[in-house]
Amino acid sequence: MFKIFSSNPVHDPINKQAPATEIKKTTCYMCACRCGIRAHLREGKLVYIDGNPEHPLNQGVICAKGSSGIMKQNSPARITQPLLRKAGSERGNGEFEPISWEKAFDILTERLAKIRATDPKKFALFTGRDQMQALTGLFARQFGTPNYAAHGGFCSVNMAAGMIYTIGGSFWEFGGPDLDQAKLFVMIGTAEDHHSNPMKIALSKFKRAGGRFISINPVRTGYSAIADEWIPIKPGTDGALFMALMHELIRLEKYDAPFLKRFSNSSQLVCMDSGPEEGLFLYDPDSDPLNTDLPHNKYIWDETSQSAKPCFAKGTSPALLGEYVMGPGPHQGKKVVPSFELLKRQVSETTPEWAAAITSIPAERIRKLALEMADTAFGQEFELPIQWTDSWGEKHDSVTGRPVAFHAMRGLSAHSNGFQTTRGLAVLMSLLGTIDRPGGFRHKAPYPRQVPPNAKPPSSENDIKPNTPLAKPPLGWPTQPEDLALDSDGKPLRIDKAYSWEHPLAAHGLMHNVITNAVKGDPYSIDTLMIFMANMSWNSTMNTMEVREHLNAKNDDGEFKIPFLVVCDAFQSEMVDFADLVLPDTTYLERHDVMSMLDRPISEFDGPVDSVRIPVLEPLGECKPFQEVLIELASRLKFPAFTTPEGERKFKDYPDFITRFQTTPDSGIGFLGGWRGKDGDKPLRGEPNPNQWQKYAENNCVHQYHMPPEHQYMRNWNKGYLDFSKENALRQKNDPIMIAIYSDILQRFRLASTGKRPGAQPPEHLKARIYKYFDPLPFWYPPLEDEATDLTKFTLNAITQRPMAMYHSWDSQNAWLRQIHSHNYLYVNTATALKSGIADGAWMWIESQWGKVRCMARHSEAVDPGTVWTWNAIGKAESAWSLTNDADESKKGFLLNHLISEELPLGGFTVSNSDPITGQAGWYDVRVRLAPADENEPKETWPQVKAFEVPGMVLKKSGETK
Ligand code: SF4
Repeated sequence: MFKIFSSNPVHDPINKQAPATEIKKTTCYMCACRCGIRAHLREGKLVYIDGNPEHPLNQGVICAKGSSGIMKQNSPARITQPLLRKAGSERGNGEFEPISWEKAFDILTERLAKIRATDPKKFALFTGRDQMQALTGLFARQFGTPNYAAHGGFCSVNMAAGMIYTIGGSFWEFGGPDLDQAKLFVMIGTAEDHHSNPMKIALSKFKRAGGRFISINPVRTGYSAIADEWIPIKPGTDGALFMALMHELIRLEKYDAPFLKRFSNSSQLVCMDSGPEEGLFLYDPDSDPLNTDLPHNKYIWDETSQSAKPCFAKGTSPALLGEYVMGPGPHQGKKVVPSFELLKRQVSETTPEWAAAITSIPAERIRKLALEMADTAFGQEFELPIQWTDSWGEKHDSVTGRPVAFHAMRGLSAHSNGFQTTRGLAVLMSLLGTIDRPGGFRHKAPYPRQVPPNAKPPSSENDIKPNTPLAKPPLGWPTQPEDLALDSDGKPLRIDKAYSWEHPLAAHGLMHNVITNAVKGDPYSIDTLMIFMANMSWNSTMNTMEVREHLNAKNDDGEFKIPFLVVCDAFQSEMVDFADLVLPDTTYLERHDVMSMLDRPISEFDGPVDSVRIPVLEPLGECKPFQEVLIELASRLKFPAFTTPEGERKFKDYPDFITRFQTTPDSGIGFLGGWRGKDGDKPLRGEPNPNQWQKYAENNCVHQYHMPPEHQYMRNWNKGYLDFSKENALRQKNDPIMIAIYSDILQRFRLASTGKRPGAQPPEHLKARIYKYFDPLPFWYPPLEDEATDLTKFTLNAITQRPMAMYHSWDSQNAWLRQIHSHNYLYVNTATALKSGIADGAWMWIESQWGKVRCMARHSEAVDPGTVWTWNAIGKAESAWSLTNDADESKKGFLLNHLISEELPLGGFTVSNSDPITGQAGWYDVRVRLAPADENEPKETWPQVKAFEVPGMVLKKSGETK
């Protein structure tokens, strides 16, 4: 519990003499959902937060976290001044001296300027659950370091990349289920999670309208509690379920053949001859490629003329199945098949019986599920009388509704097989014809984007030069081995080995390997690591205890292996203790912020929406928004984008930067799309408007653009929409975005591993790995951890879920939310627990091959018998987050991370415990066993770790700082 209680209530609701309330609107950040809120202030003090009824996202709905923002503001764990670790003290002991911001900036400027002038990649910037990646990414690019990423690599990059490399969009911010028009909703691998309040609103309407909701999840929590049916599934096996569902749909010929022929690459011809074109699409040199990066000039097999034709030729009848030989022309004699034929072959053996043995879902249930999906998609098809024109100029009088909607997130993603699993879901949805159609999956601007988007990461040493911005953005979307971030010796250019042969499509980086790699000097050492808003010595890292040692590791000369560690956060945490320099951030109520179209906006299905935060309170103490820190550093370091031609500082502060920055000179595109143009009358594109912030303030902090109905569906191939998206820089081109049932991009990497493709080749020890996992068609394989584990000893899967009332580690300092969760249990199916001799509520051990943890058990029927689970990030180090040293969080709460390794020994070498394609952390792959704790053991969790108070933390009772 807190060390000091106040005897005065925060406010007295029955005091009739209470002074007038002032209401200020801003955007919540108690989780990543970004609901509109109203902050109620009396005499300048925050007394109440409620949902903004005029906000399009949450329409006034607020959750427990959102309304508890007031206690975050009053948290005793706030840090209030910059801190420098005392000379000679060990990291982790919390021995700091307060310093001024001027000194902090001087230290940083001097150090970073030296790195930038010599070897810019020695500076690494990694950020946690922030919402300003367009700014942090710009900062890294201008600095000239490739070593930048946000938290996506350990969160849900498989979900983003698997979908974007297939349909050009993904779930949550990028798209979602159209529950207003769906009849069947299948939620798989999603707990109380992203898109929280909008999902609750939509589910409530959907259920009231008679929709059927099926939840497929190892655990029945969160949204699953109101599902009509819960289908338990073994973690990491969702891909097998999708393979079996596709097997059934194709076997029964219940798929949307016209949709696949017109809008996907299903009918496009793949070369089957051995050699450099093997498994690749053939190209017609006489047709317009439309897009030189990802050309469209492929062939189909025309069943009428029995010959190959350019794929967009009019009057053809494309085949989906069969094997053919190319006639006269540049490819004469080559054997070809439509890619759908290859998909049919791929799923020919993945029967429901095959999947039942993997997933633990009975074969009969899988069969019925496939039928239920098909019957709803095709039996309940409907037309909306909306005229639209496709990319080939054909006019349509209506759009077809296929009312089966899906939603999936981390449950699919956080496995080392998550990319191919997500591809499986995207292809399944495509077979049902539910992509950007009424009742199915719908995109949100700026998506759909090209498959994949055209940004490429740095791909040679020449892209990284002293005192020069990176030639390319630090993060991108490779389409071929030549795009990988490798030096001339084939070694990774990045500290996290993203875009190396170990993880070629690592679109969000691998933050979970940065500390370990930097300490090992593999692939090289760095000088300065800057971490923003990520608890990398606790719940945001795997192998927690060893990573904490890594942070303190020294060379023989006594110098730290990571010489300088900068941590920016608003609260004292397990991570802050390890910093050399602490930069005190503001809360979300004390700063400007943007949810930008250049980044992760809050768009709706019917058009682009972006939003802002506007401070409702003054920053506490000397807290400074991290955005301001970046603008200040960028100005002092004279980054070109932040400096005038005369060498002067370009932007006064962050709000000024947001108002005046344009992606290229005079592009008219900036961070915010609302009220652009000198007079504020231009939406999305227009010259900077000095009054833009004011307009957002007057309009609920949000700008919503409604597209006409004819632009709202079929956007991958909707000419009107694609023209609109190009005009407004949502995309660079307006060519159609074909669904990649078959990924020739993956095949290029696979081909490189066989030596048949000219150009870059993987190193010998990774050839088999690339060949196996870069299958151009979805497939299921067991998570990599299974290979490294004795499954006869560690028989159970262990996963975490995110509680409704807390978001990551952010809320353990929140007096209201702690009353809901002050500690966590390990939830074990009753039969499983009893078999291990573990009573309900008893102390027990959970053990993996990597470590063990003592915790408390809770029997449950709402979990698959082969799986155990707990809430994420409730357990804390002693005294962290300003909790007392006997707080439940550190004595009864526990962290599953101790059981998970960041690396795996596989095939004679060590690799990241991640998806071999994207580098997504395999959080949910760990295997465990259980045992009761001995009666004589202490009744507290193990391992025990101590955190330390730091100078400047808020003393709650007096309101002073110490
Ligand atoms: S769902 Fe998230 S953003 Fe919305 S009110 Fe709750 S905490 Fe705030």
